[in-house]
Amino acid sequence: MELLETFRDMVNHAIHICIEENIKGRLKLRDRIYEDLQKRYHVVACCPYSVAEVAWSIVKKHRKWHRRPYAKRLMMKMDGQNYSLNYSILSVAFRRSERILIPLRCGDYQRSFLMDTTIRRGSVTITDSAVIIAFTKEASPVEPMKRIGIDLNEKSAVRSDGTRYDLSEVARVHTEYGVRRRDFYQRHPLDTRLKKKYASTRRERERINQLLHRKAKEIVREAKSESQAIVLERLKGIRYAHPKGNWEGKARRRMIAQWPFRVLQSYIVYKAGWEGVRVEFVSAARTSQTCNKCRYINKKLKLTEREWRCPNCGAILDRDLNAAINIERRGKIPCLGEVRPGALDTDEAVKGNEQTSAPILRAEVSKPT
Ligand SMILES: [Zn+2]
Repeated sequence: MELLETFRDMVNHAIHICIEENIKGRLKLRDRIYEDLQKRYHVVACCPYSVAEVAWSIVKKHRKWHRRPYAKRLMMKMDGQNYSLNYSILSVAFRRSERILIPLRCGDYQRSFLMDTTIRRGSVTITDSAVIIAFTKEASPVEPMKRIGIDLNEKSAVRSDGTRYDLSEVARVHTEYGVRRRDFYQRHPLDTRLKKKYASTRRERERINQLLHRKAKEIVREAKSESQAIVLERLKGIRYAHPKGNWEGKARRRMIAQWPFRVLQSYIVYKAGWEGVRVEFVSAARTSQTCNKCRYINKKLKLTEREWRCPNCGAILDRDLNAAINIERRGKIPCLGEVRPGALDTDEAVKGNEQTSAPILRAEVSKPT
């Protein structure tokens, strides 16, 4: 704690100088406080660098708020060369001729990152309850054999090969907390103190994020094990999620309308990047209305129709699976040794032109790189 308090003092000292002398720029601030901090606090040479970095980020943030900045939270940040990790003992150089050893308590999951030699470690941030180590990894790309489209809807994520990931838990948690909040506001509409405790969205967000992390992990793991590239649709608007007429008001519905999908997509993108799985985004236009067998566009399709019969070719289609197949077909990531029916131009299909000629077989082989 003494370490963290000293660091905070230094940051506040730096902020003070920055404001008083109207210093513009992180590097200028660093040069200005360098000797000052070393003399006052007897810290190691690289310490002022991270102090300047933290102080500058606070000053910059407060400039927008028009408030006098100061560092409130207890934290400390150190550059990569300023600490070392020996198994699970963190050793931080802080004051001259003094090293601080912090034993880290970590589970198998965290330990696996500490042991991973392919990881490059970045800065370390120490707070009163946690030690956060930033790291980067060079992922070896997975050469895709096949693309896989994923349709996201309120209840599930559906892959174009028919695998379904259940997401109904997300909607359930949403509703559970939403109802609880609504009841709370009816009883105590003005109590901000209680609001923080009983109607905050934090716990809800955490639970949902955890769920989404798990699902994204599953999706990426499967894509990796089968050497697939993931195709997602570019989400726009609020037509996903939360249909009209549920307990939520219009504004709230709008607010939460898309986020679980966007968040899930961003988790997929990030985890895929980590694993070297390729991801691409394609247009979402009419993915669920187009028949994947004959490209007919059923404009009369309602949102509630989970299953529909194509008026043109008579195929019975599952709404989500059909969309996933259409998403997959729009993908352009080249796959190894791929043979697929060509002439299924997505732009044409979107416009609603009927496909009359028989599809021509075309081989697509990725260029050697
Ligand atoms: Zn059809």
